[in-house]
Amino acid sequence: MSLEREVELEYRPRLLGALQDKVNAVADSLRDQTPACSRCGQPMKRHDTETVSWIARFGRLHASVTRYRCPECKDERRPLLDYPGVEPGRISGSLARLLALLAVVAPYTLAAQLAWLLLGVKINPMSVWKVVQRLGEPAARYSEGMSQYHADSRSEGASTREAPPAVVVSVDGSMLGMQVRQQRRRRTGAEPLPPLPPVEEGQFQEVKTGVLLLPGERVEISPGRHSVVRRFLVSCLGNAADIFRHLYAQLRELGWVGPHTVVVIVGDGAEWIWNRVSMFVRRCEILDFWHALEHAWGVARLLYGEQSRQADRWVHGIAADLRAGKVLEVIARLQRMRPRTPELREKLQGLIAYYSEHAGRMRYDEYLRLGYGIGSGAVESAHKQVVHARFRQAGMRWSEAGARRLLALRLLLLNDNWALPDRLPMVSVA
Ligand SMILES: [Zn+2]
Repeated sequence: MSLEREVELEYRPRLLGALQDKVNAVADSLRDQTPACSRCGQPMKRHDTETVSWIARFGRLHASVTRYRCPECKDERRPLLDYPGVEPGRISGSLARLLALLAVVAPYTLAAQLAWLLLGVKINPMSVWKVVQRLGEPAARYSEGMSQYHADSRSEGASTREAPPAVVVSVDGSMLGMQVRQQRRRRTGAEPLPPLPPVEEGQFQEVKTGVLLLPGERVEISPGRHSVVRRFLVSCLGNAADIFRHLYAQLRELGWVGPHTVVVIVGDGAEWIWNRVSMFVRRCEILDFWHALEHAWGVARLLYGEQSRQADRWVHGIAADLRAGKVLEVIARLQRMRPRTPELREKLQGLIAYYSEHAGRMRYDEYLRLGYGIGSGAVESAHKQVVHARFRQAGMRWSEAGARRLLALRLLLLNDNWALPDRLPMVSVA
């Protein structure tokens, strides 16, 4: 066995002992303090004292916890358990945050396994799930609260004195498989859970993700490959209005939109994006370049066959012209084509309609010159990182609340804001 492991095993009981001493000291200091009722302010009455135990990182802690009650309001408090890091429940607040962190990265069963391997804590997946609910709920409320705050025109955003000349906002969406039943399946004894019924049509809900970045901070890490110094992710399980409300709040929180800032919006053809962007007065709308080409590929394959060199050349010709800002020439050329089959005619008409509708968002030469970029690659990779990597693994099904809470926590980690859960009190959830 390695020395490190040896020391860890040797000191673990001592760490537990030291932690238990601290808990005892807190319990002693609270012994003679009668808490006031949070509703009426009157001193509460000692109700009873019971021995409570909970799991911490180094093992199980015990304490006799006094419960106080307000005779008027029937409110109850157990001051020792309100103490930071203790909190009611079977897992210490500090361990709960570590477990939540594991669950933000890995599925619940794997997170429980990691807890054992990394922390030496034996825990079942259900307990990890519970911790995420109790910590995810305040995280979700926090982000919702921030969005509501900024939605009020009277509330103050961060200073915009250093607002950039342009900020890029790209948005994307994808579907999550939702649970068919409202109730969670209950395990009886050691029996395995019955399999879930297959997901039916309509039992999906869209998760929308937005990425905020400053074009000035984009650096070319190798020819043609770009990376950004900073990016902020915003994600929600909701409609178009919700994601734009969250994006707007995040922009105000960052102080990124000043009176002269151009908000550059990059998106695919999805209407919900373009219907909302008018909220930004100074804006530049860009149709994602790769989506524009994807549509051209649809025609090229019908015209020249799969994987033909001609199809390749044809699409590259269109790409070069689009990059040069010649979208109207491209449309005119497409209109001069004489399709031989009804299928091709239909596809071609579709492409012409798509380019005509978005022509004003396809001035790629200008966007490149201004340094705005022309693709939504940043949001697609971010979206995969936020959603696919954790929420769309084989057979995963989510409850609305479960997905919302885990999403809120995952965003905190990906936005490098994991310190926040330390400041959020855990809540009890049904
Ligand atoms: Zn009271």
